[in-house]
Amino acid sequence: MPEPDHRARTLGSEAEAAFRSEFGAAPALAWAAPGRVNLIGEHTDYNDGFVMPFALPFYAVAAASKADAWEFHSTFDGGRTVRPGSLGGVEGWAAYLAGVAWALNESGYEVGPARIALHSDVPQGAGLSSSAAIECAVLLALAGLHGHDIARDEAARIARKAENEYVGAPTGILDQSASLLCEAGRAMFMDCRDLSREQVPFRLEDEGLTMLVVDTDAPHRHADGEYASRRADCERAAELLGVASLREAPDGAAVGDDRLDRRLRHVVGENRRVADTVAILKGGAVAGIGELLTASHVSLRDDYEVSSVELDSAVDAALGAGALGARMTGGGFGGSAIALVEAAAARKVETAVAEAAAAQGLPAPRVSAARPAQGAHRVH
Ligand code: ADP
Ligand code: MG
Repeated sequence: MPEPDHRARTLGSEAEAAFRSEFGAAPALAWAAPGRVNLIGEHTDYNDGFVMPFALPFYAVAAASKADAWEFHSTFDGGRTVRPGSLGGVEGWAAYLAGVAWALNESGYEVGPARIALHSDVPQGAGLSSSAAIECAVLLALAGLHGHDIARDEAARIARKAENEYVGAPTGILDQSASLLCEAGRAMFMDCRDLSREQVPFRLEDEGLTMLVVDTDAPHRHADGEYASRRADCERAAELLGVASLREAPDGAAVGDDRLDRRLRHVVGENRRVADTVAILKGGAVAGIGELLTASHVSLRDDYEVSSVELDSAVDAALGAGALGARMTGGGFGGSAIALVEAAAARKVETAVAEAAAAQGLPAPRVSAARPAQGAHRVH
């Protein structure tokens, strides 16, 4: 097993300290699980298509010990503790933890009460998957306490079950798979039809490149309703084409309805762009993916119509300041964008993105540099 990521180790020590101060003893173990960004392949997962996430060096750590009753602590927001009498009907942030314990039990991996202290630096609600990070860290901690050795694919399925059925958020399997399965220095190409995957080298530093992640800090407006309506458009287009999913739609397919045809063009084109990205990265020419990232953004903005003023502002400003490519990432309507830049230009791009937001009266974006980090691993 690889060494703990440096950042995860630091967060692990902080989680352990939080556990001690809350529960008065050392935890038995601690697991770290990262947030993620999707390099390319957006709104393709529910169309049986291709995605390509990589893990971010932001982690949630769950420090845990067996106990007589459930006790959940998280260091966020000044520190919160919830002591649910049982696993049923827990709401708010603690629902993610109760949900994971519930989903483990439902899946035949019996887990009893535990004390859990969570500590995370994955920004919440930024589209970087803080929810999957906490689910996966908690799942591996509980499995570890009870001696269950759960394969990572199966763990992803169980964490998703918690989010879909207990918390009630209709997400795909991308986030949990990324948090559990991604590897350092690689992006993970995944085929959502059969969940097969391939770890593709993604060595930014070797090429003098940096990937900036821009959290626009914009509220997700209408995201749920719009997401549902895009899914419905795709299902309708597939039905009209007589295919099981848009994954099967051929290049240039059309159904004779302007809106549906634009949705279709996005999905077909995006799958091709993911395949092209894989080919370019395997050839080692990382900078060459820039144009594909930008083409993905244009398609999401114009054909799929899921971008926002904040995301467009960040992408346009980054490209204007010399980024090799930039796109919104995640579901859209807020959240984060990514920009591939020459390392030497990173500061200039960051400044341009901040100035563009200020000039339009938008919230100040938070920019960080991301390297493809290690998926979930034990830190204590
Ligand atoms: P995202 O996954 O894009 O960050 P979500 O809305 O899916 O956004 O998940 C955010 C929610 O996850 C928060 O509102 C909170 O309930 C929970 N959460 C995330 N991080 C933590 C944390 N460190 N402690 C407690 N709850 C957290
Ligand atoms: Mg989430």
